[in-house]
Amino acid sequence: MIGRARVTFLGTGTSHGVPMIGCGCAVCTSDDPRDDRTRPSIYIELPDLSVLVDTATDLRAQALRFRLPRVDAILFTHSHADHVMGLDEVRRYNAIQESSIPCYADGLTANEIRRTFAYIFESRTPRGGGLPRLDLFTLSGEFCLGRTVVTPVPLWHGRRLILGYRIGPFAYLTDCNRIPDETWPLLEGIDLLVLDALRHKPHPTHFSVPEALAVVDRLKPSRAWFTHIAHDLPHAATCARLPEGVDLAYDGLTLEFAL
Ligand SMILES: [Zn+2]
Ligand SMILES: [Zn+2]
Ligand SMILES: [Zn+2]
Repeated sequence: MIGRARVTFLGTGTSHGVPMIGCGCAVCTSDDPRDDRTRPSIYIELPDLSVLVDTATDLRAQALRFRLPRVDAILFTHSHADHVMGLDEVRRYNAIQESSIPCYADGLTANEIRRTFAYIFESRTPRGGGLPRLDLFTLSGEFCLGRTVVTPVPLWHGRRLILGYRIGPFAYLTDCNRIPDETWPLLEGIDLLVLDALRHKPHPTHFSVPEALAVVDRLKPSRAWFTHIAHDLPHAATCARLPEGVDLAYDGLTLEFAL
């Protein structure tokens, strides 16, 4: 064992966030703070460094709310707007840490990030307002972050493959609606599973609650949490109907595990 890891859910909402702009439904007007869902991201404190998974649209508010002291590395799942649009905010961590930040993504996502944020990656851009300093690496399998082994986990998200990530007994699988045959072995022995579950009704790019429960049934982790949640799912009422050991995640939830 090399130590303990701690995960904080920074955001557990779908791309619109909950409440959704202009919606007066029961979840969007709920008083339960667990029905307030910012865009999806987690923060993982490893024994020797702290890692952000995605730079969600709400990153600034998340970093302030949870007082994130540093970001030593960024793992990207994919380049959809809700997962990358906070990238400019990491300038503060460049300043605090006086260094650039290593970022990891698959090839497609790395290319799309370079294109979406051309002002960061094209050196001809004037640096007037200050730019994030990033070293963007393309992943091709298991790698080490400090002393911790990280396993990228390919997942189908509609017609594109994206990456989930496994660290020891923990896996974060957001934005997916199917697990490829060759990915199941990478998830063997998972004890703590975070999985996409958008709503009850089926969706072309996200697991529904029944589909996510089928994955939980096959992997049999001791605990599972659903994320990337739309306004269709009220926290308390939905959790009351989920099986033992399965819950909706919520912004601010933390969990710990041994490495
Ligand atoms: Zn998403
Ligand atoms: Zn609503
Ligand atoms: Zn997505």
